[in-house]
Amino acid sequence: MTDNDPIALPEEAAPQHAASCKLCELANQRTRVIWGEGNPEGRIIMLLDNPGAREDREGRAFVCGTRATLQLGAAEAGLDMSDVYVTYVLKCRPIRKYDKEAARNTCRAHLLSQLEQKRPRLMICLGNVAVQAYFQDPEAEVKQLRGSWYNIGGLPTTVSYHPLAVRRRPGLMRLFVEDLRRVAVRSAETGTAAVATSGGLQPEKGS
Ligand code: SF4
Repeated sequence: MTDNDPIALPEEAAPQHAASCKLCELANQRTRVIWGEGNPEGRIIMLLDNPGAREDREGRAFVCGTRATLQLGAAEAGLDMSDVYVTYVLKCRPIRKYDKEAARNTCRAHLLSQLEQKRPRLMICLGNVAVQAYFQDPEAEVKQLRGSWYNIGGLPTTVSYHPLAVRRRPGLMRLFVEDLRRVAVRSAETGTAAVATSGGLQPEKGS
């Protein structure tokens, strides 16, 4: 794949209980709930902050800058996107000011239910919002945490920059590819099974 031929990944419809979710104030801003895209049974889960305008508009599949950069980075890293499922901290697109902490904490239940149901082997959080929300640490930053694996809730997790940040600052592409390559390598190893205990922000041994 090259930068010229990124594809729109197939979207997975939200389950019935979530499709009409009104648990936080974003229910009044969104057009619809966006559950995720890619391979619903993929062993790798990528976490972004929230859907954008592209996702919010149903039935107008095109490849946005985030996807194009993500797929370019994955191709460079040798990461097979057919083994990837992409989802969000927030399943609804915010368009106005909102209580970010409350929405992220509330929508976490949906993410945890996805992880429980899908049981991915690896996770990569893309961007500070995804990192802070998933690690439940408002101080966590990609810059400090990238380069290692962390055991978060029993799921081997690593971090990288948001694809849009990479698009805006092309100098980050080398680091982005490095981070995606770490995922590709671990995915290819036999020892990718999720570990059973939860942990904090201590890198796994040897990561
Ligand atoms: S952001 Fe999450 S919790 Fe809030 S309404 Fe949407 S699906 Fe529900």
